[in-house]
Amino acid sequence: MEISLRGIGVSPGIAIGPALTFGVQSLDIPEYQVQDKAAELARLEHAIAAVRTDLQRLRQLTSEKLGDQHADIFKVHLMLLEDVTIREEIEAQLESDGLNVEYVVNDLIARYTKVMESLDDPRFRERTQDLVDVGRRILSKLLNADLESLEHLDRPSVVVAHDLAPSDTAKIDLVNALGIATDVSGPTSHTAILARAFEIPAVVGLKYVGSHTLPGDTVIVDGTRGRVILRPEEATLSRFIEDKKREEAERKALLAVEARPSATQDGHDVPTYANIELPVEVSHSLKAKAQGVGLYRTEYLFLNRATLPTEDQQFEAYMEVAEALAPAPVTLRTLDLGGDKFASHLRLADEINPQLGWRAIRFCLERPDIFKAQLRAMLRASVRGNVQIMFPLISGLDEMRRVKAVVHDVCGDLERRGVAFDPEIKVGTMIEVPSAVEVAAHLARECDFFSIGTNDLIQYSLAVDRVNEKIAHMYQPAHPAVLRMIARTSKAAKEAKIPCGICGEMAGDPVFTELLVGLGLTSLSMSAVAIPVVRAELANVRMSLARRLARRVLTMGSNGEIKALLQKRFKERRTFESYQVGISGDFEDWDSEGGQE
Ligand code: PEP
Ligand code: MG
Repeated sequence: MEISLRGIGVSPGIAIGPALTFGVQSLDIPEYQVQDKAAELARLEHAIAAVRTDLQRLRQLTSEKLGDQHADIFKVHLMLLEDVTIREEIEAQLESDGLNVEYVVNDLIARYTKVMESLDDPRFRERTQDLVDVGRRILSKLLNADLESLEHLDRPSVVVAHDLAPSDTAKIDLVNALGIATDVSGPTSHTAILARAFEIPAVVGLKYVGSHTLPGDTVIVDGTRGRVILRPEEATLSRFIEDKKREEAERKALLAVEARPSATQDGHDVPTYANIELPVEVSHSLKAKAQGVGLYRTEYLFLNRATLPTEDQQFEAYMEVAEALAPAPVTLRTLDLGGDKFASHLRLADEINPQLGWRAIRFCLERPDIFKAQLRAMLRASVRGNVQIMFPLISGLDEMRRVKAVVHDVCGDLERRGVAFDPEIKVGTMIEVPSAVEVAAHLARECDFFSIGTNDLIQYSLAVDRVNEKIAHMYQPAHPAVLRMIARTSKAAKEAKIPCGICGEMAGDPVFTELLVGLGLTSLSMSAVAIPVVRAELANVRMSLARRLARRVLTMGSNGEIKALLQKRFKERRTFESYQVGISGDFEDWDSEGGQE
């Protein structure tokens, strides 16, 4: 029977395909006595050979798709697979206990894990997850069970899950993942951001999609309207196939428009930049005619790998982006781990309240080894293009000064060693903590630019967790408190004569374009997929009217009334039917209860 579910459309477009249900799978390990130990050993050898082939293939694929540094994890796994001591131990235990080989392997992993986790040395703890991963691969071969991974899907599929971690999404098969549908998560979660970056239609916050979907069911994901249809009837299917064709044609037409100037109708330039997570997204940015990268979330280099990326590996990644876009600007944001992005080897996920915890710049200031290596890599890349550096989650002046002192140290160090870097490099901060808004005038004197991170600013000013779908209806970009904070930040920057852009998801929602321009923001940075739509909208905006709108909105007190006003004006100007990427757009019909219609 057809089921229609409502959620939050976070990445536009329509995907239709068979479901791949993804979740944490537990393997049932049998225990029995064996007579033929040689046959058990042969089974083990066979399983190891199959895992070796898989790992080599994954390493190759990952290196082609995401670059060598992301493929390193498989090098480590291959080394563990060939570890002679582990192999000898398995053989000895098989010989002494006479139990089946999957039981012996599982037992050995459990014992090793326990010992390694109890050690103080972080290098051993880092290896635990790798050992577990390799062990699960061997067990799944022995048990003939499919191992879950999004890295290499067997056929084009729609990924259906209760939840997806950003690290799972970051390694998703870009060829075969047609769409994403999850029970949980909000519009500015990093899984949602990645889906947009990879241009995979996605709907999150569906509540029941995981429990209602069977593997192989036909699924329609309508990321533009925030809807998912399970097991559609013929008529529904035909309708969505038609909608999909129409949307794709519209999108093509938008992209085909000769690069229109990123300016208002009356000629005020407002550059539109791309937000990227990985160097592979550069091509999307260029396709969308981005005028630079306004936010490079460098922490994605640190996810899905066994060890920290070296300074040289980071340099390569930053340089690749800087060179590809030069002379256009590239804003490299320093490591923003924590919140909903975790690198397993740094063990940040153990906090009770990670969004308010040891996140981003707080972590970097406590780990100068990691921070300085990243700054060195960024500074070295600065001579290969037009690079600027930006810091996340700055909450006050003292913190900003501490950060600048570290930058100063690193520059001095590079100078002494004769390493080239741009001594005029611009250094700025994100404004994403309410306290930073309060002291924006002071911060502006220490910075070359501001970029407002509304994803976090909304979360922290409204006290609404950005990844929690239960309160997604309370995550309100049009809340008057949020808009006043944007206005105050923009004013402080203007008074200090520094640019103030915006790089939260709000910048990619055309419903807000006129207002943001009217509030004085000097650039808009967004997922590449949103650029053509926002630029088309920008061409409809007149600066004098935008400023008048901003003044009017700043006198209003209700989120609902502001949203209605913005949507009305947007609809009046609207030049295209759909393919809107938005965190406001579908909220009009967004039923706060969510779930099944
Ligand atoms: C933000 O908070 O608005 C932002 C752009 O940074 P991130 O989404 O990576 O936290
Ligand atoms: Mg942020």
